[in-house]
Amino acid sequence: MSDTKLKPGVVTGKDYQALVAACKAGGYALPAVNVTTSSTLNAVMEAAAVTKSDVIIQLSNGGAQFYAGQGHPDGFKAKVMGAVAAAQHAHLLAADYGVCVVLHTDHANRKLIPWVEAMVEHSEAHYEKTGRPLFSSHMLDLSADDLEFNISECARVLERMAKIEMSLEIELGVTGGEEDGVGSDLEEGADNAHLYTQPADVLKAYDTLASLGHFSVAASFGNVHGVYKPGNVKLRPEILKNSQALVQKERGTAANPLHLVFHGGSGSAKEQIAEAVGYGVFKMNIDTDTQFTYSKPIGDFVKKNPRAFEVQIEADGTPYKKFYDPRKYVRLAEQGMIARASIRSN
Ligand SMILES: [Zn+2]
Repeated sequence: MSDTKLKPGVVTGKDYQALVAACKAGGYALPAVNVTTSSTLNAVMEAAAVTKSDVIIQLSNGGAQFYAGQGHPDGFKAKVMGAVAAAQHAHLLAADYGVCVVLHTDHANRKLIPWVEAMVEHSEAHYEKTGRPLFSSHMLDLSADDLEFNISECARVLERMAKIEMSLEIELGVTGGEEDGVGSDLEEGADNAHLYTQPADVLKAYDTLASLGHFSVAASFGNVHGVYKPGNVKLRPEILKNSQALVQKERGTAANPLHLVFHGGSGSAKEQIAEAVGYGVFKMNIDTDTQFTYSKPIGDFVKKNPRAFEVQIEADGTPYKKFYDPRKYVRLAEQGMIARASIRSN
């Protein structure tokens, strides 16, 4: 738990900024966990409560759509309203779990800018009513576009978000791998220079964005999304260090002026995570690992009780209701996620 003395619940605006500052000062990063249902969202809040850790809950566009229902007739609207529904869910319940929850949305490429802006519109309405935005932050990942477009478009959206005290996460350089379809077309062709963010590009982004509002940077330092065989790409956390040092030197800031996030953290070595955190990383994305810890207990349960998933009642009258009640195995899945979080925090 951070020592920021923040009230439990969803944190936005100045509180969110204080939380980020506390992470960097304390030398730790918050886990950012992707959710797709009320079950996974509740499990993340419970895991945070058990481990006494604050947490970042995020939705990808696909996850948000699933939250609204994969059968929702309007895919775009489902992506917006699913994210809004998840955010409302967290606003209603997070305080009860006694933890601080940051609400964020994940990778949005050029095609998904309208998705982000539609969610900002909901935050604007929420801000008007309550004095707080619905989300703490959103991400725009325009790293596949040229740098000028990436930075100018992020500036345009950040300007709008800053008015309602929201933060923007941007991405510079191409992170390998695939996250919910975004990035899949880049995996093959990305040359190595592209996989590693150039500190000069980070300085350029800082110069444009720092005066507009609060923002964070996902820099590529050889990290890949998903889980890959080790050895294909070399992790070079010193890129983060060099980016921080360049901004500090050129613009005369305090140490570690950038708020950095680590994408593709699943399966990374502990030492390299610790090194990255030392260079100002406050957020670690860990989607892929948690998906497995959620699904494995369901697989185990079905293997152990196969008949309960074939018939409702045996010929001798033995009922299986308490086995096929979805609450039974969905709860086991939630507990799998929570148990994994407790191990990680030790
Ligand atoms: Zn990324």
